[in-house]
Amino acid sequence: MIELSNELTKRRARAFSAGEGALAWYRQRCAATMGDVDMSTGEGVKCYDPSTGMETWTIPESSDHLINTFIERARRAQPKWMKTEPAERAKILWACADALEAEQSELAEILALETGKSLTHECKGEVTLPASIFRYFSGLVHEIKGRSIQAGPKLMGYTTYHPWGVVAGVVPWNVPLMFMAYKIAAPLAAGNTVLIKAPEQATASLAYAFRLIAHLLPDGAVEIVSGSGSGAGNKLISNPGIDKVSFTGSVETGRAIYRQAAKDFRSVTLELGGKNPMIILEDCDLDKAVNGVIGSMRFTRAGQSCTASSRIYVPRKLMDKYREALGLALNDLKIGHALDPDTHSGPVVSKAQQTRIQDYLTSAASDGLDVKSYGNVLDEELFTKGYFVKPHLIFDPEHEHPVSQEEIFGPVATLTGYDSLDNAIEFANSTDFGLSASVWGRDIDACLTCADAFRAGIVQINQNAIMLPGFSYGGIGISGVGKESSLEAMRETYMFEKTNIVNFAG
Ligand code: NAD
Repeated sequence: MIELSNELTKRRARAFSAGEGALAWYRQRCAATMGDVDMSTGEGVKCYDPSTGMETWTIPESSDHLINTFIERARRAQPKWMKTEPAERAKILWACADALEAEQSELAEILALETGKSLTHECKGEVTLPASIFRYFSGLVHEIKGRSIQAGPKLMGYTTYHPWGVVAGVVPWNVPLMFMAYKIAAPLAAGNTVLIKAPEQATASLAYAFRLIAHLLPDGAVEIVSGSGSGAGNKLISNPGIDKVSFTGSVETGRAIYRQAAKDFRSVTLELGGKNPMIILEDCDLDKAVNGVIGSMRFTRAGQSCTASSRIYVPRKLMDKYREALGLALNDLKIGHALDPDTHSGPVVSKAQQTRIQDYLTSAASDGLDVKSYGNVLDEELFTKGYFVKPHLIFDPEHEHPVSQEEIFGPVATLTGYDSLDNAIEFANSTDFGLSASVWGRDIDACLTCADAFRAGIVQINQNAIMLPGFSYGGIGISGVGKESSLEAMRETYMFEKTNIVNFAG
């Protein structure tokens, strides 16, 4: 049994009961859809509180029957939704945004409980994003415009955009509410109906958020499928009733989904992992660079971000200075229970992920690399029970080493010295990933040279990785295929373009 403070025990109990309530509502909704027929199959997926390692709840594994029923309903609802006046569709999305502004503190606590992300530094911010995403896409409903081509005096072409039909949106656990919002609001704005695959580790948060908006949406327009990825997730994305798959998650799962989509000739968008470089120039202000590393590497999310700047390059002559300054900043990070308001960084999401990260660290040390750990642990006993990993830096690893090439998805970054800007750019572009890259400094010429040379879908200058409505977001290489988050991306991802040719010569 773990001893927690009274305040923490109370907050944990409140989050647990709110999460259980949301899951009970979700089960009832599925049961109402299915009548007497089983809505779930097998034993479901057991979930744990990553901060304590204690079991929380079991997520139902959606049955074939439930998934088929949701898809049939979504197929029936889609033509009507597509033909609904744009103003009415926009109004519904706006109403969802208003509804998502309610109960944010409850939602933040459930998110912290089930994912282990810091309540203060991660969850409270994330719960505000869905409303702004729904508002943005509400405005785009009126912006779906094609092009026209004057091919001759009496021959004209014009293009129109059309929704795919039924979209399967597969959501990762690490920013689940933000991705759920993107994968509901954008396809709905484009005239599709949607089925969301909830991540096992954040199903209660998604159910809670969905409950806030479900009554505002037409019947069948949006539903949630729950359970394991290889079970319910795979059944959903391979169902012939799905017209488009929009997936965000790991490279490994993305590869399996891409293969399945190729087999079925189904359109697919993939937002996958990253091993993102950050080049710090010689003239960069030290404090700015250090804050930039803490933010860009998402140390407050224990490094569990696809755009985490996990490869940091500094001028070789400044290595010692950066090593010391980063060490001091990382030692200030308070590591503790996700629901403790003093915690800067919580645990990683699961025991399996904790073991995976520790294996990288052990093998780096046994290969003779210089590996250092940091952080201020708030409760040593809790630290041994939860799935905690301290922030780590690995100094000057070879470029071929797995810690330089593979996505660790934990609080582990490499710090490498470079001798010239060309040298830094070459290092930066030396992995198979291509999600994001950043450069930090005052020399605008050098900043723009890096920006131009980076092989990545998202490049930032003096700025942490962010996903803002309006900016297209997506990677190249093994980081993915396609874009999300903007008007262009909405058309490209959730609609197909039709070319119409008119001969009006008579
Ligand atoms: P994951 O691939 O394990 O799971 C993602 C989702 O896919 C979950 O909902 C899971 O249930 C489902 N899934 C798993 N197997 C499936 C299958 N065979 N068929 C259908 N669905 C399946 O990833 P995760 O651990 O939830 O998320 C972390 C990963 O996501 C990291 O690699 C991170 O870099 C990446 N990510 C990428 C972006 C981006 O925008 N590029 C954003 C966030 C996270």
